[in-house]
Amino acid sequence: MPERTPYLAANWKMHKTVAEATDFVDALLPRIAATQHDVVICPPFTALAAVVERRYGTAVKVAAQNMHEQEAGAFTGEVSASMLAELDVEAVVLGHSERRQYFNETDEALALKVPAALAAGLEPILCVGESEEARDADQTKGVLERQLQADLEHVASAALPDLVIAYEPIWAIGTGRTATPGQAQDACAFIRDVLRERDSGDAVRILYGGSVKPANAAELLAQPDIDGALVGGAALDPDDFAAIVEAA
Ligand code: PEP
Repeated sequence: MPERTPYLAANWKMHKTVAEATDFVDALLPRIAATQHDVVICPPFTALAAVVERRYGTAVKVAAQNMHEQEAGAFTGEVSASMLAELDVEAVVLGHSERRQYFNETDEALALKVPAALAAGLEPILCVGESEEARDADQTKGVLERQLQADLEHVASAALPDLVIAYEPIWAIGTGRTATPGQAQDACAFIRDVLRERDSGDAVRILYGGSVKPANAAELLAQPDIDGALVGGAALDPDDFAAIVEAA
């Protein structure tokens, strides 16, 4: 089975000015200097260049939180994969539930965004996850399978290991309600099984996201199919995020 390097991503959402972002990086870097894990910061667009600049020479990678599927065009307010790659951004979060919910990001758009990101050399961090209603109706696996099939429709199986998948149950994001380690493990194992049908399950890193904190990180990250975490609220504080990196 291929070795899967732990992957810890800080999704800042619409938080942090450039000054706050660089302060965070300066505080984080000494805390994680010895880590062998992949540590990824996802700042808002305005702070991408500053974080990229600050982390040169370190192991920290930088991800954007969204991109448009087209290369260029009349799409006011959007940025393309190649614009991110030009900044030396290495990855991009796609399909976050907040974008699906508030900005109408559809599976059809994601089916184009994922290959566009890969073509530009960006590592997609594709988020999937069920609503509370779907979980209560025992439809979690159906939702995950549908999202994976739709969003990865145009990705060759051989390219799947270049992706990271984040399992983010919507009911656990920003709510303080964390999935139990068992619930998170079951969903991540199911995602891996879906990817195994395309011969790539063992190589793809699968993250859990949803109210991860220093206090619950170790137990979640100890699950066999959870290879890391996508962290929102607790990743706004460099000490808390460093503690989560250390817990992995
Ligand atoms: C997220 O933004 O992807 C997330 C999981 O947020 P939080 O950790 O705050 O639940």
